[in-house]
Amino acid sequence: MDLGLRKRVALVTGASRGLGYATAFRLAEEGAHVALCARNEKPLQEAAQRIAEATQAEVLAVPCDVTEPEALEGFLDAALANWGRVDILVTNAGGPPPGQFDTLNQEQWEQAANLTLFPVVRAIRQVLPVMRSAQWGRILNITSIAVKQPVQDLLLSNAMRSAVVGLAKTLADEVAADGVTVNNIAPGYFNTERLQQLMKARAEKAGISQQEQQDIYARNVPLGRIGDPMEFADFAAFLCSERAAYITGATFQIDGGLYRGMT
Ligand code: NAP
Repeated sequence: MDLGLRKRVALVTGASRGLGYATAFRLAEEGAHVALCARNEKPLQEAAQRIAEATQAEVLAVPCDVTEPEALEGFLDAALANWGRVDILVTNAGGPPPGQFDTLNQEQWEQAANLTLFPVVRAIRQVLPVMRSAQWGRILNITSIAVKQPVQDLLLSNAMRSAVVGLAKTLADEVAADGVTVNNIAPGYFNTERLQQLMKARAEKAGISQQEQQDIYARNVPLGRIGDPMEFADFAAFLCSERAAYITGATFQIDGGLYRGMT
């Protein structure tokens, strides 16, 4: 199946490793030009080089912390200046820290909004006029299974990601007539640095090895294993493609069956 992504311009935030990187890689493999950002320049440049070498795609890497509005604006402007258009926006970053209600203060709530919600709002605000004038656009937010079922001890993530879903669902309706789709992916467990860090912290708390903790996670998944980020990226690239033109306002869990709810 030809996804129709050749020469489309895709912007992926938080893309030097993990799910963002895998998504940028797949989009590039499908012929898109990709712009990536992350905070740390060296791993970002290395990621961009790996993608360019493996796919021959045009790749632009701009160091940027998405919590800093001017830096985020600069990243999006750089991509626009480079290609004169933006067709696809994939929003992603790290997740907020763990914590329960009694342990989280107001400042931590505000930082979580500054990381998980506001960069999505700002990035969309900046690219939407370009997509509208082209009458074509794909906005895809990487959220979490937390939007389907809250994850224990991750109150900030559960709350802020649900706000992103509320934004996407409402916006999808507002921009549908302009050929712009807005969707979310809610990942379960994927083998990334963030998941390894979360498993390490849980293993230490439980007094078990990291491998034992990983086995516990895997046993909890009906498919019996943790996902490969490239499996995530396969579906992400599809949602960003021409082929997904009739899909909008939707949130898809990709989780090996981890989510047990009916809807
Ligand atoms: P990851 O391996 O930690 O990768 C995060 C990427 O985002 C890195 O490239 C990181 O680079 C970049 N980043 C982090 N903070 C940033 C910021 N403020 N500005 C710009 N870039 C930033 O994480 P992941 O596992 O791929 O997860 C991606 C998202 O999916 C996270 O929000 C995570 O919570 C969520 N999620 C993941 C899983 C999973 O199983 N992996 C499950 C559910 C939800 P720098 O550090 O250099 O900035």
